[in-house]
Amino acid sequence: MTVSLLPPVSSIGLHGPDAIPLTEGPRYVRTARMTRWHRVRSGVEYVSGRRVYALWCTGSVFDSNFLSRESLPESDLVCGTCDGRAVGAGQEPAGPADRALVFRPRDLQPPAVCPGSRVSRLTQAIPPGTVGRCLACLDLHPVRAMGGPYDPRAAIVQHRPGDGLPAPCPFHRWKHLLPTDDGGLRCACDRPLREPRPAAA
Ligand SMILES: [Zn+2]
Ligand SMILES: [Zn+2]
Ligand SMILES: [Zn+2]
Repeated sequence: MTVSLLPPVSSIGLHGPDAIPLTEGPRYVRTARMTRWHRVRSGVEYVSGRRVYALWCTGSVFDSNFLSRESLPESDLVCGTCDGRAVGAGQEPAGPADRALVFRPRDLQPPAVCPGSRVSRLTQAIPPGTVGRCLACLDLHPVRAMGGPYDPRAAIVQHRPGDGLPAPCPFHRWKHLLPTDDGGLRCACDRPLREPRPAAA
């Protein structure tokens, strides 16, 4: 287990609060049916103890239904999609000797627009109601009426994320934020992202 893994970003619904993202995994993996070695992008351990590793190209290997190696003889074939992305994303800091590979997974970039923008459930109106607190990043911005006649709502305007934006859910990033009644923030999968604020903050 010598390679750092990326967060196992996924769509909502796949990973409840008991799933644990793995931070390290094997370097090269293959099952008996695979014609070449592949690289691991991310891994998850479930409550049952079952482990699933997602590959950079497509698909995954699970449990111990695969071989893993730290190094390979030169004659062994390695999946180019997997290896290029793994090296480019920083899993092999030494990389290839003669080229600088780069690969930046789009779903791991920090958001340019705060996920609380234009979302009424993440807008806390402050009387008299022209300014509100963004419950995602905690910054203050104007509140505007938006939506059409069939979907009227008041929400905070579009803004860049403030410093109060918490670290993302390892599975769903900042895509499904829910404020809690006591001023905290959680992901729709129930992982807490920010502790409740003390009263009268
Ligand atoms: Zn592959
Ligand atoms: Zn915000
Ligand atoms: Zn989540």
